[in-house]
Amino acid sequence: MQTNLRVLEKEEQCAVTKDKRNYEVIIIGGGPAGIATSLTLTNRGISNCLVEAKHLPQKKTGEAIPPNAKPLLKKLGIYELMEDPKHCIYYGNKSSWGSEKLEQKAFIKDIYGHGFLLDRLHFETQLRAHLEKCGGDFLAGYRLKKVVKGEKGITATIENTAAAITLTAKYIVDATGRKASVCQQLGIKKRFLDAQFALTSSVQLSQEIAREIVVEATPNGWWYAAPQGHKELTLMFFTLKSLIPDKVNSTQFWRAELKSSLHISKLVNAENCDFGPIKILPCGTSRLEIPFGENWMAVGDAAYSFDPISSYGITSALASGMYGGHALASAIEGKTDAMLTYRYLMEKAYQGYAEKLVGHYASEERWKDEPYWMGSR
Ligand SMILES: Cc1cc2nc3c(=O)[nH]c(=O)nc-3n(C[C@H](O)[C@H](O)[C@H](O)COP(=O)(O)OP(=O)(O)OC[C@H]3O[C@@H](n4cnc5c(N)ncnc54)[C@H](O)[C@@H]3O)c2cc1C
Repeated sequence: MQTNLRVLEKEEQCAVTKDKRNYEVIIIGGGPAGIATSLTLTNRGISNCLVEAKHLPQKKTGEAIPPNAKPLLKKLGIYELMEDPKHCIYYGNKSSWGSEKLEQKAFIKDIYGHGFLLDRLHFETQLRAHLEKCGGDFLAGYRLKKVVKGEKGITATIENTAAAITLTAKYIVDATGRKASVCQQLGIKKRFLDAQFALTSSVQLSQEIAREIVVEATPNGWWYAAPQGHKELTLMFFTLKSLIPDKVNSTQFWRAELKSSLHISKLVNAENCDFGPIKILPCGTSRLEIPFGENWMAVGDAAYSFDPISSYGITSALASGMYGGHALASAIEGKTDAMLTYRYLMEKAYQGYAEKLVGHYASEERWKDEPYWMGSR
């Protein structure tokens, strides 16, 4: 779906060369975190501009939204986007972790009911359209070129092949995802706490698939399978970067790992299946020491990136965008402790995640001597 966002056409692009615009907040990155930040600021009457490198929404990796994200989705006013038939609901997980047995964990007892499996491209498209409907200022197809911090605030240069625009603001928000590009430019380093990577692909099956996620631990990592629509399965294998052979041999590695799995190999035939292209992506835990500083803030994966076993990435990106947006609005209104409150909330959520993560990996004891499970992740 093509939205009417301000994707600047050629003539307009020429006209805005050397353009200068002033806002209270500039947000770089139009994923879930950037959009939630812009929605919150716009609702609070704070002028802001969201800059996104990609002209059109992209299909990203990651689709599971757990049931307990529902109150947040409602607070952000985007719950109804989930009810679109392109997304499906799911009722639980099956997991073989710590033993060969595939254990069922149904959401039936969860007070929030079912979770959602997103059609991620459609979700990103919906978020852009929703922001536009709410009056957000969105520049799509512009990449951040340079950020300079001065006495009066921030000056950012954004550009595409046809034009450059200078934006000035009191604050800049890094919502650029794992790479944290704004922080990199400001000389703020992210800490990477493991070397986990994912191989991801999808496969069309001839039969209908149950609406549940299946997770299986194996000696070299773990598998994740999630239905996408009725007959498509998203497959991911999480392992160490050092265990993945070069790109040319990654398909062989993928098939061998799949063949040796006990449960995932029953869903998909490793020999005969026609997989889509296999993408290799970093997906470990990483974080900034502090998610804000003078004239800047980081939200979403740019601030804290989570291991996908937690299914926490999209929810956290939306939550940090919302809390970050409120903190910025309050700081602009003169409440000096607002940014510290943001840090406190983010840090508390991260600590909860980190404790659960350690416990979860420790509960798999079958391959303690294998590199993946030795804690070198
Ligand atoms: C293998 C894998 C599986 C995952 N599974 C799940 C899952 O099941 N559930 C879940 O909740 N999460 C999952 N995630 C994580 C989830 O996808 C991310 O946490 C989420 O996308 C983070 O949102 P974000 O807005 O912070 O960043 P992103 O979605 O990465 O958005 C950042 C945006 O910034 C733009 N950008 C980057 N640099 C610039 C620049 N210089 N100028 C302008 N724009 C720029 C990019 O184009 C992009 O649109 C998974 C991740 C991986 C890698």
